[in-house]
Amino acid sequence: MADRETLLAGPFEAQDIKLKRGAYNIQRGTLPTLRGHTRLEPIPEILIFDVDGVLVDVRGSFWRSALETMRFLTGRRVTWAELYKWKNQPGNNDDWSMVSNWATALGRPTTYEEARDAFQQFYWDYDGRPGNVRQEKMLISAKQAERWAKRFELDLFTGRTRQEFTYTFERWAGTRQFRTVVTMDDVTRKKPYPDGLLKILGGRDPGTALYVGDNIDDALAARAAGVRFLAILPPGAYGYRQRAAKFRELGAVGLLPRTTAIQPWLK
Ligand SMILES: [Mg+2]
Repeated sequence: MADRETLLAGPFEAQDIKLKRGAYNIQRGTLPTLRGHTRLEPIPEILIFDVDGVLVDVRGSFWRSALETMRFLTGRRVTWAELYKWKNQPGNNDDWSMVSNWATALGRPTTYEEARDAFQQFYWDYDGRPGNVRQEKMLISAKQAERWAKRFELDLFTGRTRQEFTYTFERWAGTRQFRTVVTMDDVTRKKPYPDGLLKILGGRDPGTALYVGDNIDDALAARAAGVRFLAILPPGAYGYRQRAAKFRELGAVGLLPRTTAIQPWLK
């Protein structure tokens, strides 16, 4: 039996699974199973992962830095709830864009470059103070990446800069399992544009790939590339219902409470 979290977050059709159980859902290309899981049909050959919120917990690094940058720029004590609200809007996967939009909306006009420069002093070590980057935690083990790499081609498409990516991933043993890593510096147009996914595919059939992400911009990029999308959305996440509905509307094949819960989908 699936664990409670998986059932709670389970496939979108969890409520009406009785009607659909065993029936092949052509539209979504998924096959509900008796265990309440949905597996992917056909099984992808290429697994492309987003990084933040999928492979790395960034609440203490990027998101905390965004809050601190907002307080620094506007003098207001903005809250986590407000941050989640802004984060859930399209175009805000990039924290610098989000801060620029948010501060401007609060009456403190802020350019993207200004937001970026202010953000850096909280994210990186600065002026003798340790940066929030030190709070980052990997969400999967190197062993897990190794197991997946035996069956699938693994790639990464992230909104991080190459420098941010390297800092966190050069010390992780799982990094070498990923074939192509596309960062913000490797594409002209970042998410929600599909450029990074198309670059990874290099002309291969998008139907053979799956993108795993946690943001609306990830879902938009996947849809534009014709790549199936699985959303990471923990049951306790802020705005769970709205985000689940949004992911569904954008054609996500399902929701996972965490990345390691992908296992039954790949059987
Ligand atoms: Mg993310």
